[in-house]
Amino acid sequence: MAKVNKNYKKLAAGYLFPEIARRTREFQEKHPDIILKKLGIGNTTEVLSPSVIEGLKRGVNKLAAVKTYTGYGDEQGKTELRRTLAEYYKSNGVELTPEDFFISDGAKPDSSNIQSIFASESIIAVQDPAYPVYVDSNVIAGRTGVYSNEKNEYEKLVYMSCTEKNNFFPDVPDKKVDLIYLCSPNNPTGAVATHEQLQLFVDYALKNKSVIIFDAAYCEYISDPDLPRSIFEIDGAKQCSVEINSLSKFSGFTGVRLGWTVVPEELVVEGSKPGEVRSLWNRRQCTFFNGASNIVQEGALAVFSKEGLKESRELVNYYMNNAKIIMEGIKAVGLKFYGGVNSPYIWLKTPEGISSWDFFDKLLSETGVIGTPGSGFGPGGEGFFRLSAFGHRKDIEEAVDSIKKNLNL
Ligand code: PLP
Repeated sequence: MAKVNKNYKKLAAGYLFPEIARRTREFQEKHPDIILKKLGIGNTTEVLSPSVIEGLKRGVNKLAAVKTYTGYGDEQGKTELRRTLAEYYKSNGVELTPEDFFISDGAKPDSSNIQSIFASESIIAVQDPAYPVYVDSNVIAGRTGVYSNEKNEYEKLVYMSCTEKNNFFPDVPDKKVDLIYLCSPNNPTGAVATHEQLQLFVDYALKNKSVIIFDAAYCEYISDPDLPRSIFEIDGAKQCSVEINSLSKFSGFTGVRLGWTVVPEELVVEGSKPGEVRSLWNRRQCTFFNGASNIVQEGALAVFSKEGLKESRELVNYYMNNAKIIMEGIKAVGLKFYGGVNSPYIWLKTPEGISSWDFFDKLLSETGVIGTPGSGFGPGGEGFFRLSAFGHRKDIEEAVDSIKKNLNL
């Protein structure tokens, strides 16, 4: 008799967004006249830039002529795009080869699939709070043990605490772990790691033969030139790190779908030679993935043109101006917050004694604004609340006005 993968039953997350939707629905049914204002979701809202639209059209037109039509492409992505990415990294001072880049349909699939090339007994360390995909993919793979409702924790995961005290970037684990997930700029805290902080992790990983899985999905939101945008800016990182990124937040590709994973040839794990881990990821992608859409890859190439980069940076500026408006508003009402400077997320500290979910209800009922309770990102998120700068300017302004006028503190 067929049986399901029992690990799915251990999943605790997935509760977050359905619960937000349930509470929102209930509120809206009781108050149909109130217009809800969403500051909760990390989804982009602004249109694709002209260069990207032209790139996508080029991709479509190629499919309309026999001479330029292509069917299945390389599973690793178009050579031209891999080369373009290597050049782009080089322009930021990072030397990688085109063969180190694997084009995909986004950072979420890659960040959940990457664990599959590592041993099933691997010990996993995550930042707490964290983007839930790192945890859930390892729950399904059977590495985490059971979830404790009381503690909001999995028994075998190593939680690297991110608190106000450490500026939301963790210390290296005090024991040996195998895979370390780091996200900078961080979702949900908005914290950005410094060179020194990342160097400590790279040194730890080299010493313990661990692998860092570095999610750089928000790296283009870093405006401070002193902060690293790639783990590969750190000495020794190529021997111990994988980097995941996408065009979702840089260029509004959330629905278009294009990402990449960098697995440097130099990366080694216990018992492996250089190139072996990269070959394994190649094998994984060739087995389970048939390559990113050819149309979308044309759109991605357009992002990295001179005009495309300029337009994508304007898009980032737009969202970062939203972040400024949110920060000014919540500062004016006396709320404490972090992030929002080199990141589109604002990590608000709930007023004394109010849990993340209670603050969700309070904000919704008093202001009609929807945010995301921090506890949904792990035990360390309790007492915090995430606000997102992704939204139309008018909606952001209305939300902030309502907070200023109606929030009772
Ligand atoms: N990584 C982080 C930290 C994210 O917050 C998100 C999306 O919100 C993703 C990855 C997913 O990116 P993509 O749209 O490329 O799958």
